[in-house]
Amino acid sequence: AVIVAGSVGALSEIWSELQRAAGATERLVELLQTIDDVQDPEAPRALPRPVRGEVQFDNVGFHYPTRPGQQALNGVTLTVAPGETVALVGPSGAGKSTIIQLLQRFYDPISGAIRIDGIDLRDMARADFRQAIALVPQDPVIFATSAMDNIRFGNMAASDAEVEAAARAAAAHDFLTALPEGYQTQLGERGVMLSGGQKQRVAIARAILRDAPILLLDEATSALDAESERAVQTAVEKLAHERTTLIVAHRLATVKQADRILVFEGGQIVATGTHDELVSAGGLYARLARLQFTEGMAAA
Ligand code: ADP
Ligand code: MG
Repeated sequence: AVIVAGSVGALSEIWSELQRAAGATERLVELLQTIDDVQDPEAPRALPRPVRGEVQFDNVGFHYPTRPGQQALNGVTLTVAPGETVALVGPSGAGKSTIIQLLQRFYDPISGAIRIDGIDLRDMARADFRQAIALVPQDPVIFATSAMDNIRFGNMAASDAEVEAAARAAAAHDFLTALPEGYQTQLGERGVMLSGGQKQRVAIARAILRDAPILLLDEATSALDAESERAVQTAVEKLAHERTTLIVAHRLATVKQADRILVFEGGQIVATGTHDELVSAGGLYARLARLQFTEGMAAA
C-alpha cells in the first residue's frame, strides 16, 4: 500500500472502525483493505463464541516494515486472563502502542505468536476477531457527522436512546447536550472541534455500545482537567469491568486500578506486579510513579 508512513496508524484505526460498522460497502472495504499489510488466511478458523477473551503474546519479536533496523518488540511474552485488567506503562517508545496495534493484526510479528482464546490471529479472518475487540485510541477519530452518529459508530444498530445511555456512562452527555444543537451538532472539520478529553469520552461511548469482550485503550497523554480526568476514570473502570482490558496508561489513577501492571522498556517487559509490589521493588516503575507518569514519560 502506498501511504505516507506517519498516517498508517490513523488510517488503520479508521479502517478498523469502518470494517466493524455494518454499513461499509464492499468496494470501500476492498479499497481500505489495501492499507493493511496483512492478508486473511484462505480457510480461516472461526473464533468460537462466546469469546472468553484470553490474550497471549508468545515470545513476540517485531519491527515496523519501514524501520527494519529498529526492534519495536523483543521477546514479549504475556498472558491476560479473561476479565483481567492490565496496565502497560513505560517511557515513550517502549513498545506499548505496538502491543495494541499487533493485537488487532495491523501487522504480523516477525517471530513468535499472538493468540486470542488460544487461536493464532493469522489463522482467523480479521473481521471475525476484531468483532471481539473495542478500541479507544489515544487520539480518537471524529467523523464529519453529528455527535449522535459519531457515537453510533460503535454499533450501527444502536437506537438514539442507547447512544444517549452510552454517552451518559462515558461522561459525555453533559458536554454534548451543551453543544449548540445537542446530539445533532455536526462535529469534525466543518463543525465543532472537540478537546482531547472530549474525543476520548466519545470513543469510550463507542466502546460501551460495542460491548466487546476485549477492550484496548491507549490513554490520552495530554493533561485533562481534574473533573474530566475523574469522569473519564470512572467511565473506564465501568467499561473495563468483566472484560479483558489492556490499557496503555499515562495516569497513576488508572494504573493503580489495574489488576496487574506490565512495565515496558526498550521493547521488553522489564517488570510485572501490582502498584505496591512495583513501588517497593524500586526501579523504573517507582521512578515513574513518583513523577505521576505523565511528566516522567519523556525523561524516564
Ligand atoms: P510507546 O507506545 O511505548 O510510546 P511505540 O509502541 O509507539 O511506543 O513504539 C515502539 C517503537 O516503534 C519506537 O521505537 C517507535 O519509534 C517505533 N514505531 C512506533 N510506531 C511506528 C510506525 N508506525 N512506524 C515505524 N516505527 C514505529
Ligand atoms: Mg504509545
